[in-house]
Amino acid sequence: MICFLNGDYLPIEQARISPLDRGFIFGDGVYEVIPVYARRPFRMVEHLQRMQRSMDRIGLANPHSIEKWEALCMELIARNEGENHGLYIQVSRGVAPRDHAFPKESTPTVFMMCNPLRAAPAHWRAEGAAAITARDERWLNNDIKSTALLGNVLARQKSVEAGAVETILLREGMLTEASSSNVLIVRDGLILSPPKSNLLLPGTTFDVVIELARRHGMAHELRPITEAELRSADEIWVTSATKEVLAITRLDDQPVGEGKPGPVWRRMDRHYQDYKREVTGCEAPQA
Ligand code: PMP
Repeated sequence: MICFLNGDYLPIEQARISPLDRGFIFGDGVYEVIPVYARRPFRMVEHLQRMQRSMDRIGLANPHSIEKWEALCMELIARNEGENHGLYIQVSRGVAPRDHAFPKESTPTVFMMCNPLRAAPAHWRAEGAAAITARDERWLNNDIKSTALLGNVLARQKSVEAGAVETILLREGMLTEASSSNVLIVRDGLILSPPKSNLLLPGTTFDVVIELARRHGMAHELRPITEAELRSADEIWVTSATKEVLAITRLDDQPVGEGKPGPVWRRMDRHYQDYKREVTGCEAPQA
């Protein structure tokens, strides 16, 4: 696998970063994961704009323009084998003597790699997947896509240990998001999701879903969602660039609605796959 590190393209095994890099020492950096289908990045500009917002939120000067980032992404895709990737970008505040305060001068470390984009197992599409709930114990700036992911890592591990694919998070009895995805629910045919706030990441996939709901006249509303509403939902979906729109059919070992992917999910998934095909020319659905 060819990666990009600070201006060079090289095999990942040869990439070297200083242990004084603030990304390593403090998790002082931001990242993005852009899905690439048939060598075509999906919603690349939206991902790069979100990365700009993350950098603005942590006072990190973006080393490149959006146009330059687009060119770097295309070059990395061209240099790697394979058609479908999760293109990972990380920018840290760079190498400096260890001190919490921002260094007066440092050059951001820029790292990019292409991970294979694994198709969702077919049985997820047919049967949906299981999730658990947990208390959202993370900080209050989850709108920043920060590489400091320990809260998300610990949350995700809980569902791994429970044999589930995601951990859905509740803060003071209200739904926020999941360990690495956004959450939407369906009640009486209405798609509901918590509004964007500092408590959750503004998902690029979530934005696609809301755009598609508007385009196809599917009723939706953004408003706070209680734990009780989550638990009694007809359908629960989690969305992310790599999971796309995934139906959660068991929550904490209880069936969600009828315990199988619901009709509103089926409609949205069809629109999502059609849109992906429209944008990337990628014929086969990922799953
Ligand atoms: N929330 C969190 C905490 C995430 O890590 C992700 C995945 N990056 C998402 C939501 C979904 O974002 P996206 O749809 O842009 O992948």
